[in-house]
Amino acid sequence: MKEAYRQESTRTEEDLKIRRLAFIHRVFRVVPVPDARFAQATVRACAARLSAVKLYLIEDDLNIGQALLTVFKDEGHEVVWVRMANDAVERLQAEDFDAVLLDLGLPDGDGNEVLKRLRAAGLTVPVLIITARDGLQDRLKGFDNGADDYLIKPFEIPELLVRLRAILRRSGAHGEAEALWSFGNLALEEKRMRVTLDGLPVMLSKTEYALLLTLMKQSDRVLTRAELEKRVLPFSDGPTLDVHISNLRKKIGDGHIRTVRGVGYMMQRDRAA
Ligand code: CA
Repeated sequence: MKEAYRQESTRTEEDLKIRRLAFIHRVFRVVPVPDARFAQATVRACAARLSAVKLYLIEDDLNIGQALLTVFKDEGHEVVWVRMANDAVERLQAEDFDAVLLDLGLPDGDGNEVLKRLRAAGLTVPVLIITARDGLQDRLKGFDNGADDYLIKPFEIPELLVRLRAILRRSGAHGEAEALWSFGNLALEEKRMRVTLDGLPVMLSKTEYALLLTLMKQSDRVLTRAELEKRVLPFSDGPTLDVHISNLRKKIGDGHIRTVRGVGYMMQRDRAA
């Protein structure tokens, strides 16, 4: 045991990466891999074109989940991995993700139900289904339910990365398209952190900006006070949520943010338009 530990500890990080990669290839049945270094280079070449993103992985298979986690984390991406359908949608409503990787066969439900609920909640986050269900009807159902792409297991990591990059590009989350949120005369350019009203720049505090961005990004639903506080309080220098909302309204006009009594706030499309 001690001997094994010593051997483990003397391995270089590079060796461990190659071993992990070989493991990943075994999991995805991408065999044989005659030269792990070559395979690693292939993965790196594909991943290099993906700028850091935040991914939500819904996958119950421990081997596949661990393998994907390793691939994405090695490349600098942030990954939240859950293994159950339950709570998956709630987490997506509370937190921003650039993309979702969704397995269909989950222990407590069908991934299709997660997808339907997610779309019904108005979430537009790109979803890539990863599943062993390869029938035409399964694929059509996935797209019908709102998937952006469908990848059949076993798949190769480079293909997953390429498809992920494609859905991110289409959604504009990969920085190739400028994220621009607009409501009537109010516009927010996310990349430049710039807000304009009737084309003129509006100076916002960090908290006000975070608040407005959060509201604009999920403009199709009411954001609860708790959700907003969780998002913006890290930027806040003391005042309560209501004070920040009030200050924001003074700067962008009263008509844009609607108070939903007892619940929270949401953007108001009709009056702002
Ligand atoms: Ca599964």
